[in-house]
Order: sequence, then structure tokens, then C-alpha cells
Amino acid sequence: IISTMQMTNMDNDHIPKYSVNGEPVLDNFYCEECLYPELHQDGEVIIKTLYLSVDPALRCRMNESTGVDYIGPWEVGKPVSGFGGVGKVVESRNASYTPGDLVETATGWPWKSYYSVVLDEGSDLRKMDTALLGGRITLPLTVLGLIGLTSYLGVMEKGHINQDGNQTMVVSGAAGACGSLAGQIGRLLGCSRVVGICGSEEKCQFLTRDLSFDAAINYKKGDITEELKKSCPNGVDIYFDNVGGDISDTVISQMNPNSHVILCGQIAVYNKDVPYPPPIPTHTETILQKNNITRERFLVLNYQEKFTEAMQQLAQWVLQGQLKYRETIAEGIEKAGEAFVSMMRGGNIGKQLVHVADP
Ligand code: NDP
Repeated sequence: IISTMQMTNMDNDHIPKYSVNGEPVLDNFYCEECLYPELHQDGEVIIKTLYLSVDPALRCRMNESTGVDYIGPWEVGKPVSGFGGVGKVVESRNASYTPGDLVETATGWPWKSYYSVVLDEGSDLRKMDTALLGGRITLPLTVLGLIGLTSYLGVMEKGHINQDGNQTMVVSGAAGACGSLAGQIGRLLGCSRVVGICGSEEKCQFLTRDLSFDAAINYKKGDITEELKKSCPNGVDIYFDNVGGDISDTVISQMNPNSHVILCGQIAVYNKDVPYPPPIPTHTETILQKNNITRERFLVLNYQEKFTEAMQQLAQWVLQGQLKYRETIAEGIEKAGEAFVSMMRGGNIGKQLVHVADP
């Protein structure tokens, strides 16, 4: 998959407009055939891609400056790279890897059907223990990967859940990958009421029927202020914020004194030219200060020393069926760009993935 027009959006006359402001569109990507890779040196392997992870943070790679120091922008006309992927080693000049080994990483996977890479001590690629995963090879891209870690560590580190506190948690972006897990984790850790905000009736049903959220609010329909009041009669104690913008201002206006915002993401402004985290309106800032509400930025990569323990907890929950997850899977590598565009517009329930090939 190639990036065609970095920072590009098409206007009504289909003329490319270069702007940080603008929704990603299908024309930002194209798929082309290329040569199968070759092994050139010792330590190198060829990997066949099986699944790709599609993530909102990739939007910042479409800007000339990503705004963060740990990832660079995509280059126009060059193959794009995402974060997570799962694949199979098909050729190897590396003594530690045998053809057939399944591998995964969350930190950099080219959107190619096959690629070659030198695997050394510094590599982030890990062999997968499929038996441990119960054969579910996408788990490292969902619950047992950065998505699960973000949800769990976000709640643990910034949520301040008090098991006997009768607390109400609200989650925005609730039917997405992180949101759907965060709400369930809030409940598992002791919240007495969990309410989700999302963008469709189908998503609301998924939350209340499949994941046992106490209530779900479709922000595209009705009055969120009134719906929140009804769904959270005792106010909001913990807010897992995936979206920012007006939705978050509304939730914050109903938060209790000494409550906590988990600042996970702000997708409502990813298509806008604002710094991260974006400035919040003065009246929201006043509410935060007056009510002593914490709102600290959370970045999962800052908690790497806690990953092993967190993974153990997540694995126990998911393998025992206490933590449910859903995937929205696009079929074929040529659909990767489309899957990204769709996810940014709310087309996914649970984690958006691309299925590229079977093992
Ligand atoms: P999701 O699976 O939640 O997909 C994105 C969802 O965002 C869409 O399905 C859509 O759902 C919603 N959305 C899109 N635009 C808007 C909008 N304008 N207003 C409200 N909702 C919108 O993605 P992830 O779970 O992967 O990511 C969720 C958030 O977590 C993102 O902000 C991401 O950047 C952040 N994140 C943060 C990490 C960290 O370390 N802090 C690590 C990983 C992710 P709907 O139909 O409900 O609108």
C-alpha cells in the first residue's frame, strides 16, 4: 500500500488540497504490485503478513510533522507502515527463526504482503506462542497487545478506582478497540456503573447487550447532556476519554468533585491542525479546576515496565471469558487504506484489522 498524497484531501471538485485539516480519503492510498523480497544477509528473514492493525494514531503520519518524536511521517509515493502486525516467517537466514514461526509486533509493520527484515537483539518482533493464545492469532493486535495494555494501564494508572467506591465510569469511543475493553476493565476492577458513548444504535446494542455496559448513548442522536444525566444519576467519577471535543466537554460538565479523566486519545481533533493534547475551552478548564478533577495525559509507551504484569492479568481475563472483544476485519491488503478511512469515520466495532493471508 502506497501513500499517494500526504496531507491530502479532495475538495468537491476532486482537486487535491494539501492540508493538515481534512478527513483521510481513499485517494490517499493505492496498492501496487512489487517484487517478492530477497534475503541478502545473515540474520535476515522474509515475513508473510497475515494481519495488519489499523490505528487512529496513523493519521498523524499523514502530516508533514507528526507532532510526536516516536514516529515519522509517511512519505509520498513510498510504501506505508503501520504499528501492529502478525505474520509468518517463510524464509530465514537467522538461526533463531525457522520458516513457519509466527511473529508479531506492535511497533512497526510495513503494509506489504511480504517483506524482509534483519532480526537482531534490538528487534521488536516477537515469536508467538499460538498454544498460549488458544489459536487466536489476532490477540496480540487486540487484547494481548497495545490495545489491551492501553485500556488496562490507562484505567489502572489514571482512573483511581476504589473497589468499594460505588463509582460511575463513562467511556467515549466506547464501541472501539480501546473503549470496549476499558469499560469492561472498569467494571472488573470495581466500578458499579459503566456507561458508553458511541456513534450508532448498533454500537449501543453491542455495548449493553454483548458487553453488559449499564447504558449506552448514541452521540449522533438526541441530547448527550440529558442522556448522560439519566444514565449517570450520581454523576461521573471516572471518564475514559478517547475522543475529546464537545463530547468530552459535556461529560466533564457532569463530573463529580475529585474525579478523574483518563486522557487516552482525542480522535475528534485528529483531522484538525491543533497540537496534542488540544487546548480545551475555558469553561471546561474552570470546571476541572473548581472541582479538582485530574486530567493527565496518558501514553501507554511510558509504562513499559508494567507490561508483563498487565499482560498476565489481561490474558487471564480474556482466556477465562471475562473480557470480551470484537474485531472488524477488512479482507485483503488492497483494502488496508479503505479500512483506515472507514475506522476514522466510525465504521468499526471493536478492533479494526486487515486480514491479508492465512498462515
Ligand atoms: P477505535 O477502535 O476506537 O476507532 C476509532 C473510533 O473513534 C471510531 O470507530 C469512531 O467511533 C470514533 N470517532 C471517530 N471520529 C470521532 C469523532 N469526531 N467524535 C467521536 N468519536 C469519533 O480506535 P482505538 O481504540 O484504536 O483508539 C481509541 C483512542 O485511543 C484514539 O484516540 C487513539 O488515538 C487512542 N490511543 C491512545 C493510546 C495511548 O497510549 N494513549 C494508545 C492507543 C490508542 P464512533 O462510531 O463511536 O464515532
